Amino acid sequence: MIKLALRLKLTLLYTGVLLLALALLATVLIFTATRILHREVDESISATAASVVKSTVIKQSPFSLQEIVLPDINVFAAPDTYLQVVDTRGRVVSHSKNLGQQYLPLSEYTLKSAMQNQKFYETVRSGEQDIRVYNVPLAVDGRLLGILQVGRTMATVDLLLDRLRFIVFTGGVAIVIVAGLLGWFLARAALNPVEKISRTALSIRDGGDLSKRIDYLGPQDELGRMVNTLNDMFGRLEVMYNRLQESYELQRRFVSDASHELRTPLTTIRGNTEFILQTPDLDARTTREAMEDIAGEARRLTRLLEHMLALARADAGFELKKKAVPVEQLWDDIARRARFWAVGRKLELSDQYPVGKLVEASPDYLSQLIFILLDNAFKYSPPDTGVELAMREEPQGRFEITVADRGSGIAPGDEELIFDRFYRSREARAKEGSGLGLSIARWITEQHRGNIRAANRPGGGSIFTVLLPFSRQ
Ligand code: ADP
Repeated sequence: MIKLALRLKLTLLYTGVLLLALALLATVLIFTATRILHREVDESISATAASVVKSTVIKQSPFSLQEIVLPDINVFAAPDTYLQVVDTRGRVVSHSKNLGQQYLPLSEYTLKSAMQNQKFYETVRSGEQDIRVYNVPLAVDGRLLGILQVGRTMATVDLLLDRLRFIVFTGGVAIVIVAGLLGWFLARAALNPVEKISRTALSIRDGGDLSKRIDYLGPQDELGRMVNTLNDMFGRLEVMYNRLQESYELQRRFVSDASHELRTPLTTIRGNTEFILQTPDLDARTTREAMEDIAGEARRLTRLLEHMLALARADAGFELKKKAVPVEQLWDDIARRARFWAVGRKLELSDQYPVGKLVEASPDYLSQLIFILLDNAFKYSPPDTGVELAMREEPQGRFEITVADRGSGIAPGDEELIFDRFYRSREARAKEGSGLGLSIARWITEQHRGNIRAANRPGGGSIFTVLLPFSRQ
């Protein structure tokens, strides 16, 4: 609809301008032609009149017209030129033969003007035609004796001008119609891509299919560039929309998983408290057991909330503050705390680590990451097996941290999934956990511009590898 209106507007504008230009041209043309033809008639009759006057002989006593010997005026007459001589009273003294029985019309006004001894032109109507008449007073010594009238029919000139008007008018109309039609089709051709653009945009709006693009094969002119820009914009919109959709989906899952995870410890806490409150004379041992359960669940709840808080902060765009930390310092700190933390378990710390190197890190978060991995390693492996922690420079020059165990290993296909929020493998569900630890570990790694991966070890168990860039010194 919009396109039709624009197309119509363009065509009307274009045709209107053309019409105006043609009308102006036609007016100038007809005006000029009329002036030239009329002047030519005037010149021809005045020349004839001059010839007649030149050939006129005046006798000695010029008291009447008879005294003037007029030449044979028929000599000067042409098929469309008439001559007539009238006396001061308007009586026709002589006229050219081609007038036949007719006379050139003579008005009072003509007579009066001639009396004032003036030569002048006038156009008179005779029958069906206009006649241009040149009136020349015939006077001797200032005394007017009569008037010589040379007339020429305007029929030929009028016919010529009529034809010219007809040609100009019909030609003009034909040109306007043809140009209008041509403009209409040209406008359609020019607006076709615009129509395509609006159709695609509409189908995107109505169908919600953001993967659609405008297929335009034309040249890279203004329209081509506009199509490219629009397609580019659609592409960006699609990416943004998908990202939004993904993050919405992630949030939705997070909220539903989180509420599910929160409900379990809360149910236990509520059940136990109600049990204690409603059972009279509960023995001290059972009360203690129920209280221990409550404490355990409360701890789990706290950990869960801490993890959720960390991830919520990450989602909100929180960025870690990092500084260049010497690897030795990092190692000493982590090894000391790990030894203390792993009392009663077999923790093997490699005594080789890169010396004199710096990593751009947040030491607190980096040790949180390592403790998440150590915690899992101990959790998912039998108590009598060992867990190894090592830091080294890998062949490509990056800082590598590995945590390896001899536990259950990772189920095939789960290597990536275990980093998803709330994901827990079926075997792991028997153990305590929230499924958020590795999500936090991955976020911390990404914040350090590194990456983390999980694999199974030959001979059983799993190995988690974190790769970070060394900081340039
Ligand atoms: P949680 O340990 O609380 O379940 P995590 O995000 O830390 O949550 O781990 C996600 C899942 O990855 C675990 O449930 C478990 O199935 C698997 N996993 C993590 N570490 C190990 C490991 N060392 N050995 C085997 N499986 C592991």
